Amino acid sequence: MSPARVAFRTERVPFGVTVDNLQLAYGRKVVLSIPNLEIEAGSTCCIVGPSGSGKTTFLYAVAGLHSEIGAVASGSIKVGTFQQLSRSGPEVAIPIVFQDYALFPHLTVWKNLSFALEVARAPRQDTARLLEALIEALELGGLEGRRPSELSGGQRQRVALGRALAANPGAVLFDEPLSALDRPLRYRLRSFLRGILRRREATSIYVTHDVDEAVAFADKLVVVHDAQIAQAGPPSEVVRRPKSVAVAEFFQHSNLIPAYVEEIDGGSAIICANGVAKMRAHMGDNLAVGQQVIAVLPFDATRLGANEHPVRFTGRMEEAEPSGLQCLVRVRCNDEWSVRALVGAREALEYRPGENVSVSWTDDDLVVVPARPSPYGEGGTHGH
Ligand code: ADP
Ligand code: MG
Repeated sequence: MSPARVAFRTERVPFGVTVDNLQLAYGRKVVLSIPNLEIEAGSTCCIVGPSGSGKTTFLYAVAGLHSEIGAVASGSIKVGTFQQLSRSGPEVAIPIVFQDYALFPHLTVWKNLSFALEVARAPRQDTARLLEALIEALELGGLEGRRPSELSGGQRQRVALGRALAANPGAVLFDEPLSALDRPLRYRLRSFLRGILRRREATSIYVTHDVDEAVAFADKLVVVHDAQIAQAGPPSEVVRRPKSVAVAEFFQHSNLIPAYVEEIDGGSAIICANGVAKMRAHMGDNLAVGQQVIAVLPFDATRLGANEHPVRFTGRMEEAEPSGLQCLVRVRCNDEWSVRALVGAREALEYRPGENVSVSWTDDDLVVVPARPSPYGEGGTHGH
């Protein structure tokens, strides 16, 4: 590993991260291209995307360690003023927290943490004071003398986090750090970690496949798909205003209704779907009259029965699938498609399979995105 040119810093001052014209490849296979990505100093950027989409490779590149896993990088990644892709190796050491802790099994918690300080060349006389502060922040008090095998998964992951934070780095990278933990532990550590990230003492790049985690942590949410950034922005925007089927599908919380554009009216489209009253929807750029689109309708914005919203269609109730304290009710519009509505378990009891149910939603909840291009190059989609 190349030696860091910047070691221990007494104060934690976050770095901004700027990515330009980045291309990451293994041999000739490009796994991720990022024309530009800005991550504000002190903020948390969450990266989500299917497995194999280059997320881990990207973290290694930000740390300047991509060649250690056999990847080739071109372009520029600046962390603060440091260039991480320079020929002579990274200019600054950025720690990565992995899902499998990477602790020294034979060392106690205290020694695991003090070793990290030593590596970072922290002033020796300060070690005890620094470690005590770290142990307090990570709620590891009383466990200093234990070895990793004597800790729970969550405690081990907090020690790993402590090792990453020990040198007061300006940025920390996380590669699915909670995914090896069982669910209750994951929830507890999630809120703990959120507190740490919210202090904005370091810039964080956080890779996860857990959508809830990403939405809870992110100042900026980046969805990668097909070796590209499919969309980046504040989580509320990415979740509520997806720009492509790929992004909408990734979140798995919306109905995707095939339709075509009948009219364009400012920032909205009037669309027609087979069997449904015409509807108005938000649209991105690049849509044209006559184009095949997908209307994205969140499950939790889909209402059943009589209410204040205009009825869009009346269909046949098919099934009610319990989902936590709620229920996903499927209503079939016609042979070609159905929608699912997320309703309270009590409300779901009001409907029986086979029964007619009216379905409604508000214009504001509907977004249209270009239909996926047909693999045969036909079908009139030209939205990409
Ligand atoms: P993610 O973290 O998003 O799951 P990775 O960054 O680990 O994705 O991998 C991206 C792609 O690169 C995958 O298709 C993976 O198979 C490939 N890959 C990873 N490591 C290597 C390697 N050493 N040699 C060749 N291909 C690799
Ligand atoms: Mg990975």
